[in-house]
Order: sequence, then C-alpha cells, then structure tokens
Amino acid sequence: MFDVAKIRSDFPILSREVNGKPLVYLDNGASAQKPQVVIDAVTNAYAHEYSNVHRGLHYLSNLATDKYEAVRGKIAQFLGAASEDDIILNSGTTEGINMVAYSWAMPRMQAGDEIILSVMEHHANIVPWHFLRERMGVVIKWVDVDATGALDPQAVLDAITSRTKLIAVTQCSNVLGTVVDVKAITKGAHEQGVAVLVDGSQGAVHMPVDVQDIGCDFYAITGHKLYGPSGSGAIYVRPERMAEMRPFLGGGDMIKEVSKTEVVYNDAPMKFEAGTPGIVQTIGFGVALDYMMGLGLENIAAHEAQLRDYAMSKFAGLNWMQVQGTTPSKAAIFSFTLDGAGHAHDISTILDKKGVAVRAGHHCAGPLMDHMGLTATCRASFGLYNTKAEVDVLVDALELAHELFA
Ligand code: PLP
Repeated sequence: MFDVAKIRSDFPILSREVNGKPLVYLDNGASAQKPQVVIDAVTNAYAHEYSNVHRGLHYLSNLATDKYEAVRGKIAQFLGAASEDDIILNSGTTEGINMVAYSWAMPRMQAGDEIILSVMEHHANIVPWHFLRERMGVVIKWVDVDATGALDPQAVLDAITSRTKLIAVTQCSNVLGTVVDVKAITKGAHEQGVAVLVDGSQGAVHMPVDVQDIGCDFYAITGHKLYGPSGSGAIYVRPERMAEMRPFLGGGDMIKEVSKTEVVYNDAPMKFEAGTPGIVQTIGFGVALDYMMGLGLENIAAHEAQLRDYAMSKFAGLNWMQVQGTTPSKAAIFSFTLDGAGHAHDISTILDKKGVAVRAGHHCAGPLMDHMGLTATCRASFGLYNTKAEVDVLVDALELAHELFA
C-alpha cells in the first residue's frame, strides 16, 4: 500500500510552516524535497566516509569510490539500461544534453544538417542546439503541440528529411505535463537512421522508464528532481552512440596516460567524466533512487495519476481558471492563468501567503510561451508526497486570488 502519511514523515521539510501556514509544496517540477535517508547519506558521507574518488589507494578513497561507483549500477537499474557502462555520471540534465551537443552532434554535423525539437522543450534542450546553429549553421526545426498540448509522434517523424541527424524531445513537459510517446518517435526515427535524445528530467520523476524498451540513443536525468541532491545526474547513452562520441571535457580521471605529446583516454563511460565529480551528491542520488524504487515506481505513478485526476476535476469547477495542457496523457503538472488576475507572479505571491509554493514565470520554455501567446503562467507541480487535501488547499487559495483580482 502507498502510505502517503508515512511517506510524508520521511521528508522533514514537509512538516514546517511557511507564512504561518502548513507548507504545501507544489514546486516539484523545479526541484523536489529530500527524504531523511538522503540527508543522512549526505551527512554521513561528509562526516565519516569522505575522500576523493578513483585516484587514491587508501581506505577512505576506496570506500568513497565504491559508494560512488555503486550509483552507476543503481541508475542503470532505475532506467532499465543493459549495463552500468551505458551510464555517464554528471551534474544533471543540462550537462548531459550539452555533452551530447559537443561530444556527439558537433563532430558529425555540417552546415544545413537538421535537429528536430518540439516547441515545448526546456531551454536546457534548446540552447545547446542554438550553439550548433550559431556556430556551425545547423538548422533547428520545430514541431508544434496541438491545442490540448499533445505532441503527435507522426508530426515529429514527418519533419525528418535526408539532412536530419537528431530528434531531441522531452518525455514530459515541465510546463504542461504532457507525456510524449518517445518510443513511437524513436522507432520511426531509427527506421530513417535518425538518433533520438530524450530529455527525461521530468519523465523519470513521474513514470517508470525503460530505456531499452524506448530504444532511444540518449536519455538525460537530473538528481535534484528525483528527490536527490542538486549537482547530481546522469545520461544513458546507447553503446553504439557512446562509441561515436569524442570527449568533451578534458582533465583528470578521463585519461589512462598523458605525456607531453599524446593522451590515451580512459574507457567509456569514464572517458566522459573529467575532473573531481559531485561525489557526495551522487552518493545521495543513489540513495534517493533506492528510496523511489523501494516505494515502487508504478505505485508512485498511480498515486500521482490520482492526484492529477482529482486536481483536474476540481479545476474544472473553476470557470475563471485556464489550465494550459488538457491532454489526458499528462503528469500532475498544471500551468494556469486566472481571468482578470494580475501577473502570474502576483498569483503566486497570494498562494505563498497561504503556504502554497508554486512557480510563476516562463518556466525556461520561451518557444512554448510564444506558441501559447503568454508571457508567464503559474505552475503547480506535484510529487510523490502530495495529497488530495493539498489540492483542496490550492483550490481555496486560488479562489482567494480570484476574489482579490476580480
Ligand atoms: N529539462 C526539463 C524538462 C526540465 O524541467 C529541467 C529543469 O527544470 C531541465 C531540463 C534542466 O534540468 P537541470 O537544471 O537540473 O539541469
């Protein structure tokens, strides 16, 4: 049984008050709170087990290395990867996507070659491709979502031409919550020899992921949204693509030998992990994944689906509220505006007075905002510890905001 009261007691911050009200934390899309086991793991690592990894021969360095390296296997398990060698550890999705741009895309693209993006990508899955556009003349092609915020896989595949080298698409929009059929996109893309990068920053939080079933070439995740520390993350890379990549960052750890005249790189995946990594953050990330897998990824998804349906049914009764993204294929992430209400920032300030933490702004999704004809929305994004009672608190606070601005 998914005991949400018990789960909430695992997260110390959830019992605090904000502005004199119990905290209702609905900003999980930006970053999730941490369970005590993660906090303890981080404290313990610094207090009793800290050292640099890989390079030392002493006891603590071996211990830290073992703990750090064990996380690679946990991530492989979490993502359904065939081997831990398919996992490159990094600081999060932004680093992962930038690495693909520099390590894989840049060496194999010419001016006029194309990358296909959906209009609802996060800036982390846009700006690295703009670098290639600005610096190499690569062409970015955009695929729109429909009025419900859904992305038709066929529309993505229809955009492929003989110059297309990569499709880079989110599995779940951080703004609309839209869940994309990345498996269908990958299947069609591979039939035409096009690689697929999936931005899993939000997707992996809300649904079980199996990268082998999806079949994608790259799948990027970020630890802090998965209830782990900030500064942790990983990218799954299909072995064929890993073999095609050239190192992006140079430095310690990614080499076997360096002389005045040459360098022999380490084997993959370490070839792509230069310098001292986020040792403790990564150890904490592993504990967060254990925590999620312990709860059951299917159970988390089922709980959040209930929250989504409950919230949507409540929002349907608020005829002055416009929820952006109504496709049923969506996670419990809601962007909205209110009739007659001031700027999204004003709404979020009122909600904050009621203890409700939401995000307001463009959510790092400029092209989607342009597509929707909006400059900003409020976003309530739910996580595994949220409850229906918290949906009710949100709705009461929205009613107050509506009354104030009407
Ligand atoms: N992609 C999506 C869909 C996101 O929601 C985010 C973060 O909000 C990112 C990428 C970037 O993640 P990070 O800042 O952890 O690198």
